[in-house]
Amino acid sequence: MTTLMERFDLVRENIYAAAERAGRSPDDVELVAVSKKHPVESVSEAFQEAGQELFGESRVQEALVKIPALPSRLRWHFIGHLQANKVRKALPCFELIHGIDTVDIARDVDRVAAEMGLFPRVLLEVNVSGEGSKHGFTPEGLERELEGLLALPRIQVEGFMTMAPLVKEAEAARPYFTKLRELRDRLAGQVGIPLATLSMGMSGDYEVAVEEGATLVRVGSALFGGR
Ligand SMILES: *Cc1c(COP(=O)(O)O)cnc(C)c1O
Repeated sequence: MTTLMERFDLVRENIYAAAERAGRSPDDVELVAVSKKHPVESVSEAFQEAGQELFGESRVQEALVKIPALPSRLRWHFIGHLQANKVRKALPCFELIHGIDTVDIARDVDRVAAEMGLFPRVLLEVNVSGEGSKHGFTPEGLERELEGLLALPRIQVEGFMTMAPLVKEAEAARPYFTKLRELRDRLAGQVGIPLATLSMGMSGDYEVAVEEGATLVRVGSALFGGR
């Protein structure tokens, strides 16, 4: 059995090494510790023992219970599928929303943010694999809608997020990460803003994602164990 601290050390070392292999600065990659379905105590331990301050949650309801029970210096990202009826509760809790996956939810977030006086930072979710089970814009849909989404007055689109298909070998996820990076590079050129954030890579494939340009990796089970 490894300790929580050892697992954080290992994942951080792996991120560092992957960045170096790709000739990137390790400082340009941030670890989002995905604490969904794990108790407040585990988050607290990760903060106190491993110094982790950034956490990811995928259910608003669960986050609303956890966040107030933990130190206010912790930072939270919403990584799940956001439902329209949860937007009002979610917005004040999260510094970044990874999974804006339709024009409708983007408009909802924008409208509610205006009512609440907020300018939420968001990522657009892209379904690069085309799997029917996955949320997100198709690459073509994203290209079609991007200008309109950037024109919404409140949301601040900082980049893209994707989930690779579940694969046995991490290497098999590489083409999906490459595709998201190349799509970003092309669209950023078209619209003339950097779209610098790429959220990609989970426990099974985060090293490959870092090699392909991830700036945020969302790692759960490799840190906290199974759910
Ligand atoms: C659960 C989840 C993760 C973390 O998955 P692990 O395989 O446990 O690392 C990452 N991203 C999203 C969107 C998730 O829902």
